[in-house]
Amino acid sequence: MSLTLYILDYLGELKSQRKSFKQRQKEHDENVMKTIIRLKKRNPLKDGLICTARKPWVTVGMRNVDYKRARHFPVDLSAFCKILEIDHVRMVVKCEPFVKMGQITRVTVPMNLAPAVVPELDNLTVGGLINGSGLEGGSHLHGKEQVVRATKDNEYSDLFYAIPWSQGTLGLLTCAEIKLIAIKEYMKLTYKPVKGDITDLSKGYMDSFTHDFGDESNKKVPDFVEMIIYNPNEAVCITSKEEAKRNHTKVISIGWWFKPWFCQHAQTALKKGEFVEYIPARESYHRHTPSYSWEMKPILPFADQWWFRFLLDWMMPPKIPILKATQFESIRNYYHDMHVLQDLLVPLHKVSDALEWAHREMEVYPIWVCPHRLYKHPYKTMVYPEPGFEQQSRQVSNMEQWLIENHGFETQHAVSELSEKDFWKMFDGELYGKCRRKYEAVGNFMTVYYKSKKGRKTEKEVQEAENVGVETPYAQVDHS
Ligand SMILES: Cc1cc2nc3c(=O)[nH]c(=O)nc-3n(C[C@H](O)[C@H](O)[C@H](O)COP(=O)(O)OP(=O)(O)OC[C@H]3O[C@@H](n4cnc5c(N)ncnc54)[C@H](O)[C@@H]3O)c2cc1C
Repeated sequence: MSLTLYILDYLGELKSQRKSFKQRQKEHDENVMKTIIRLKKRNPLKDGLICTARKPWVTVGMRNVDYKRARHFPVDLSAFCKILEIDHVRMVVKCEPFVKMGQITRVTVPMNLAPAVVPELDNLTVGGLINGSGLEGGSHLHGKEQVVRATKDNEYSDLFYAIPWSQGTLGLLTCAEIKLIAIKEYMKLTYKPVKGDITDLSKGYMDSFTHDFGDESNKKVPDFVEMIIYNPNEAVCITSKEEAKRNHTKVISIGWWFKPWFCQHAQTALKKGEFVEYIPARESYHRHTPSYSWEMKPILPFADQWWFRFLLDWMMPPKIPILKATQFESIRNYYHDMHVLQDLLVPLHKVSDALEWAHREMEVYPIWVCPHRLYKHPYKTMVYPEPGFEQQSRQVSNMEQWLIENHGFETQHAVSELSEKDFWKMFDGELYGKCRRKYEAVGNFMTVYYKSKKGRKTEKEVQEAENVGVETPYAQVDHS
């Protein structure tokens, strides 16, 4: 089934690529009109609040998407899956929201171009990443009978800055422009083992990229940094730089089905010591896809064995929609209670504290650490840098409290146990609230807290969400 879906996806991409950019733009405009007509049909008094019609089992994220089990007004955006333009002068790729990361790199990498940030899994979508916690981009937004183009310096700049982390609760995204950067054919990866206690591991991670940070050209700073912590005493830090094709360079392909998963491959540095290798750029971008980071291991515990890799791994990884569609609710709930998949954003100087905390309270390994830069914007966005940054189960809920106290953030695709009050302690709701009122999302779209919170919605909660007239994100009432 997975293979069939992969082939259908690929054929769909080929079909779309055979169309001229002009034809794709024409279809895009028609689809925007269809979306407007669909929205006009909505009766706010009985139809529920607007969200995309994407099925919960198709998305990559871990949460139950409980809001789709209650009354809602779905808008089908599945036709928005085309790359509309690659502008080599402005260095942007213009694409529709359901374009996947793998789809973009398949087209841009042969041109020696790539989005400035490429989240690793092939299946992650532009719309999900912009409205969630991934990419940043100029975007055209479709709101209540109004299509606007929001950029960082036009009259809708407030909306442009409010969208990341808003989870599609400010409007529907129909198109986005993503910044492209010129890339070279290969990545030179350096695998460096780091051993010691948690403080040593954190120091090894920070030393790998902060030393040369801020030098004028940033030339010495690695293009990519990640650390995989295998246990409290052992980690491998992987830094990479782009490299052009050179005759003497021995290139390793990690993309073949029989090759070990990237996390296992990197782990060999713990035994053999530091090593360097060259990998084709696209394989490097999507290095964690075959193992879905480490999520394949609990799903198919023997999938990393050599015999399985040689005989059957060509069928891997299974499509996420198939995994989710064949999962019973009890298994899903068991998974949520017994399994941890959380992405946390913590200030760099708190990395060691966060790792200590996670070890003490959860003891879940491996842990993946990578840098994420927060910029100071003209608006205070939902996720914002720590003040003064220029100079420097119950477990889930404990972890969330720790994050609030330490100015950290929890991504919303994961399972959240935050109360509404604590949610707005973690995130800044000022700009978000203003944009919800200004762009008439109140009463039309769900609130980001309603969408993110765990658990099936009761009829009372649905009614409250629908009937809210004026709302303040800084809810003073604790509903927990
Ligand atoms: C194993 C694993 C690995 C991951 N790796 C990464 C990673 O490397 N980098 C990273 O950034 N994230 C990563 N994530 C998290 C990922 O960012 C989230 O799952 C994210 O929400 C994207 O998923 P999706 O594309 O399926 O979007 P969805 O889950 O479908 O959408 C996310 C949100 O955006 C809204 N939305 C989507 N499209 C639109 C639209 N057109 N208009 C309005 N709202 C919209 C949805 O309603 C939803 O609230 C990972 C998650 C897992 C489970």
